[in-house]
Amino acid sequence: MTGTSWPGESRVPEEAARSGSGDSRPPARSPEEARASTGPTGNRLTVLSGPSGVGKSTVVAELRRAHPEVWLSVSVTTRKPRPGETHGVEYFFADGDEFDRLIACGELLEWAEFAGNRYGTPRTPVLEKLAAGVPTLLEIDLQGARQVRATMPEALLVFLAPPSWEELEKRLRGRGTEPEDVIARRLAAGRVEMAAEQEFDMTLVNTSVQDVCHRLIALMADAPEASRPGRSPS
Ligand code: 5GP
Repeated sequence: MTGTSWPGESRVPEEAARSGSGDSRPPARSPEEARASTGPTGNRLTVLSGPSGVGKSTVVAELRRAHPEVWLSVSVTTRKPRPGETHGVEYFFADGDEFDRLIACGELLEWAEFAGNRYGTPRTPVLEKLAAGVPTLLEIDLQGARQVRATMPEALLVFLAPPSWEELEKRLRGRGTEPEDVIARRLAAGRVEMAAEQEFDMTLVNTSVQDVCHRLIALMADAPEASRPGRSPS
């Protein structure tokens, strides 16, 4: 994140050392997380997850456009920007050393390695938004969703599923932004993610971006009822 000031810094290195995919121990739950996973107005943290290529970022882009009242966490990644991606908008792009520093300083709520790159959620902005009662959404992978489940059990975990496996493969290849070996790694990760659907509170099938957004907003607005398990084609 060279050249970008960081919004708030917590410093809990011993806690951070237990986070992330490189360690099987559950991440520690700080008092702030315990308090913040349900905000004062009843807004809960919502996590959107699902296999790479399913369309999470398209859904998030549509949410940004149509529902500016929802705050979307901007993750940090060591992945290189794709054409059209802007530092601070889709991601904060960081090098490996910077990412190490964020872990060591306890600045990541969760983090994971995915298809050869690392991704993490900045902790402080999420806790601040929840404390202020702002509906807050994380778009993260399965490993990250599991960490959030462990540290903030009240969070609503939503799984975005493709209409079919063939469709997922088609979308991933059709993006045309990754070489074949990266696509293969993402498909392998996708199989693992698809097998974990039952760990989530709710599944939305991505047949239409607008419908998924509509249902997601309804779930976030009505989180307690929405957390009943179920599968819902959009
Ligand atoms: P992409 O490289 O396609 O933008 O993202 C690859 C994967 O990383 C996606 O499944 C996306 O949801 C996930 N991801 C993005 N940000 C985060 C994050 O902050 N934490 C975790 N655990 N996964 C993330």
